[in-house]
Amino acid sequence: RRPGTPRGHRYRLGVMGGTFDPIHHGHLVAASEVASRFGLDEVVFVPTGVPWQKKHRDVSTAEDRYLMTTIATASNPRFTVSRVDIERGGDTYTVDTLKDLRAERGDDVDLFFITGADALAQILTWRGADELFELAHFVGVTRPGVELHSPAVGHLPPDKITLMEVPALAISSTACRARTQEGEPIWYLVPDGIVQYIAKRGLYAHPGDPSDAS
Ligand code: ATP
Ligand code: MG
Repeated sequence: RRPGTPRGHRYRLGVMGGTFDPIHHGHLVAASEVASRFGLDEVVFVPTGVPWQKKHRDVSTAEDRYLMTTIATASNPRFTVSRVDIERGGDTYTVDTLKDLRAERGDDVDLFFITGADALAQILTWRGADELFELAHFVGVTRPGVELHSPAVGHLPPDKITLMEVPALAISSTACRARTQEGEPIWYLVPDGIVQYIAKRGLYAHPGDPSDAS
């Protein structure tokens, strides 16, 4: 039990896993909406180690993604960032993320794993899928262009999953990277501090471009 937590209250911890390359307002709105709906005490953002689904492209370093996640969440007292997936190294599997958080936070914590509709649809293909639903409740949120009630989701245990509509933000990290590479703005798609961090570090620039445009 955490200091200040009333006896009998189980601490409600949201878990938002992602590559966060970069983190954008779609991630932040999803976390905020689920926190409000489920009365979460905290949402921990967990940047992945090496994302095994994304080996076909160069992913920014774990430290850049960790720092961007920290910058973007700093102003919200209920948002935190965990390094468990980064420290474990290697491929990140959600089952490991949840086990590590459970070990770190203790048994009187309820975990709520927050995921967009696209990631939720793939859940059955994740390693350890059978164990996942014993570790956490899963909350799938709407994402523009993705069917929330996909056939795959119909096969998941209904008492372990909540599907939830959130304000639609047609933002993806892929589009943010492409826009940066093309010299198009990403202002207002990501927090101001992230625009500045990307420029400062020269992330997503065309190879050979001068790293700092400003
Ligand atoms: P990429 O384009 O590189 O895959 P992404 O925008 O999908 O990036 P991820 O880091 O892959 O971001 O996503 C982390 C989690 O956030 C996933 O569960 C994903 O479904 C969810 N998510 C991302 N963008 C949105 C959005 N605009 N609305 C709702 N959920 C989102
Ligand atoms: Mg994605």
